[in-house]
Amino acid sequence: MILLDMKQHTVTFAFLSLILMSNVSGQSAATLLKGDEKLGGRKAQAGESITSKLGIEDCTFLYYVDCTQGICYCHLSSVTASEGCEQVSDMKAQSRDTFNPNAFLFLSSSASSLPPSRLLLGRQLNKLPHPVVILISCDGFRFGFQHKTPTPNIKRLISQGTEAETGLIPVFPTLTFPNHYSIITGLYPAYHGIVGNSFIDPKTGDSFDQQNFDSKWWLGEPLWETVVNQGLNAATFFWPGSEVNRSSWTCPSKYCRQFNKSVLFEERVDTILSYLDLPTSDIPSFMTLYLDDPDAQGHKVGPDHPQITEAVANIDRLVGRMISGLEKRGIFEDVHVILVGDHGMVGTCDQRLIFLKELAPWIDIPENWIERYTPLLSIRPPPNVLADDVVAKINKGLNSGKVGNGKYLKVYLKENLPSRLHYSDSDRITPIVGLADEGFKVEMNISVARQCAGAHGYDNAFFSMRSIFIGHGPRFAKGVKVPSFENIQIYNLVTSILNIKGARNNGTSSFPKKVLLPRHN
Ligand SMILES: [Zn+2]
Repeated sequence: MILLDMKQHTVTFAFLSLILMSNVSGQSAATLLKGDEKLGGRKAQAGESITSKLGIEDCTFLYYVDCTQGICYCHLSSVTASEGCEQVSDMKAQSRDTFNPNAFLFLSSSASSLPPSRLLLGRQLNKLPHPVVILISCDGFRFGFQHKTPTPNIKRLISQGTEAETGLIPVFPTLTFPNHYSIITGLYPAYHGIVGNSFIDPKTGDSFDQQNFDSKWWLGEPLWETVVNQGLNAATFFWPGSEVNRSSWTCPSKYCRQFNKSVLFEERVDTILSYLDLPTSDIPSFMTLYLDDPDAQGHKVGPDHPQITEAVANIDRLVGRMISGLEKRGIFEDVHVILVGDHGMVGTCDQRLIFLKELAPWIDIPENWIERYTPLLSIRPPPNVLADDVVAKINKGLNSGKVGNGKYLKVYLKENLPSRLHYSDSDRITPIVGLADEGFKVEMNISVARQCAGAHGYDNAFFSMRSIFIGHGPRFAKGVKVPSFENIQIYNLVTSILNIKGARNNGTSSFPKKVLLPRHN
């Protein structure tokens, strides 16, 4: 058996680093300078396999050249089966922090555009006995807010972790409760049942609001339940739905709080940190932390006010408090911190209003047909009124040119909404849904003038509705950006990190492989 010490190991990598990957005039190719018996100096094309003996007797490493979006990397596909070779392979995987992966990959001046290298495995835990995920949500943290002001702590997570390059895509409607519950269940709102912040079940006539913890409303399987079902501990310091008793999850007082927005953010962070001081067997594998900002400010003053900048700076300080708490405990590199938001925020002004009363020449819409006005117009006509007739009359009026801003509202039968919104397959969704254009608001009648402010809930295709995704920890590659993705994918990311079986959901089962480093066994 060949045992390598770290010095030899470094030599091994120096040898490997002689493989130079390049992107020549848009054509992805790899040049092998030397160290490969087969190719000599010629370019290896994407898809080609390269063997290297690495100077170690009887060990042959087979690499696969993979080029994605103009970036090539080597993927170790196999090592000849002998104990010594496996040892080399294993150390290679573990040694991510002892060498610069860029030196091996030789791809570009920065690691920031690299996909996670499949050569590398997740780092081993040093201190914690099991993987831990802390999922932090900052309400209304629009993608880009992190650049409003110096955010050294968020930037640290980004530079040493994995970020969704142009933000996290919320589900439709881009509202707080539907999105938080999609993040935690991996389901679109039509399937997890929380189709809005408030809505009516037409079968029973019952109303849902944000203080309703009756489990009949909350469908799907939230992560805390999945975790507890499999014999692990979960803890929540606020998250929509976390107070709801469902199956194995009873919101135990030791690990779960009833929402109270007056609880200081610092207390929320410190409580999560204190769970990590528990006896090993009690440390939760999964924890949620909810922060109400900068949504609270965004609604009052819009996304471009100094109050937002201040709120973002405060969120960064809280992230810093979390990082230093983890560092003090010697577990910052062991814990997976996932920082997300539920949706973005866009400015709204009085001149961007649509008044339903102006539709009177075409249709009179009684107030009691309307469940919600804006920015998602939800209309449930009584059973004796044909919904498609209502839609036709409303759209005729909106398209007449006689309704102020009429062209900025489109009204649909829910089954005719764009399928990418996944917003039809539930009785709780009203038969008629109107989509207001970015920043527009729908009201019944002209009301008192008001200041410009902020709103969300619009089509999730608007960039202004995006939030952030940053992952830091053993299974996240460092300094890597991944293409933006929908927040329903997060459920599978967490179950993959925790190595537990997840419930069925709308996420893609192969998605974690694209974002996470392979598990280190
Ligand atoms: Zn929100």
